[in-house]
Amino acid sequence: MNVIDFRSDTVSWPTEAMRTAMAGAQVGDDVYGEDPTVNALESKAAKLLGKETGLLVSSGTMGNLVAILSLTTRGDEAIAGFDTHAITNEGGGLSVLGGVVPRVLPTDDIGRMELSSIAAAINPDDPHFARSRLILLENSYGARSGAPIPVEYFESVRKIADQHGLAIHLDGARIFNAAAALKVEAKEIAAYVDTVTFCLSKGLCAPIGSMLCASEEIINKAHRVRKVLGGGMRQAGIIAAAGIVALEEMVDRLVEDNENAQFLGRGLMEIDGIELDIERIRTNIIFFETESELGFGAQDVADFLEANHNILIDVAGVNRIRVVTHYWVGKVEIDKLLQALEKAIQNGGEGK
Ligand SMILES: *Cc1c(COP(=O)(O)O)cnc(C)c1O
Repeated sequence: MNVIDFRSDTVSWPTEAMRTAMAGAQVGDDVYGEDPTVNALESKAAKLLGKETGLLVSSGTMGNLVAILSLTTRGDEAIAGFDTHAITNEGGGLSVLGGVVPRVLPTDDIGRMELSSIAAAINPDDPHFARSRLILLENSYGARSGAPIPVEYFESVRKIADQHGLAIHLDGARIFNAAAALKVEAKEIAAYVDTVTFCLSKGLCAPIGSMLCASEEIINKAHRVRKVLGGGMRQAGIIAAAGIVALEEMVDRLVEDNENAQFLGRGLMEIDGIELDIERIRTNIIFFETESELGFGAQDVADFLEANHNILIDVAGVNRIRVVTHYWVGKVEIDKLLQALEKAIQNGGEGK
């Protein structure tokens, strides 16, 4: 214990309230649909996202895969940002298991594909081409420092999708961070998509699980897909109990994580040898650089912080560092990080 972990919000531990809820959870066999705690979580999540119903899955990766496989058949094409998580960080599951062809497009500084490019990427009905079937979106956008994408973009993409009979899946792993930054409700974003996933296990602090929310018709298919993937769990109420606490107690406080990221960013700007663009910090993810003239890099800084201060950060490139705020790293821990970073740079990354 006592490690201060800024690598990601996935490292967040469950809260005491979650552990208590898990220990006392009422359970049944969820494959039979008989776990009351899972059922309660699924309806709570669906309500929050403005969808008819929900499905508990083991991870965000499984949620994306279940959604994609529920909306497509083999040989369908999915239009997606080239650096969206489902393309870059999920083992190519959509192709490996779904036979879905990714059609990747460039993204702008907050993770948007250009609307005209999306429209141009939709294939005509011609046997030469894969069938365009799905558009994949993400919010907040991880590869763009967790940028929140405004609601209007979703409305515009929906129009294009409707013109061509395409479905939209939203990877909303951190949708509540995005919603907090945009000062909207998550369901205002989700209103424009067919399926939406979000992680219980990131900023919301639950130990396990993600939610997929959609219409009953889609979730019926998703149930089958989840079973095929081995994701049918039995007394999953133990997991769901923590998820319910996450939805009741942790969603509204994510605004604090976003504010703490700003606080951290302002502190970083005071440190000689560190470069960052504070404008890019919009939610809880912060990227910054150690100046290349320093003669040491991100890995040296990370080693120094771990060895001397028990602080963990994510090395994202030779000079690039990522830190993420979450429930367990508040202002006190941020101050410790800033002081330790100053020392690391003064000491030239030495003194491990
Ligand atoms: C974390 C994340 C996922 C995957 O979630 P896991 O639970 O780690 O599988 C998917 N999409 C985005 C944008 C993420 O940040």
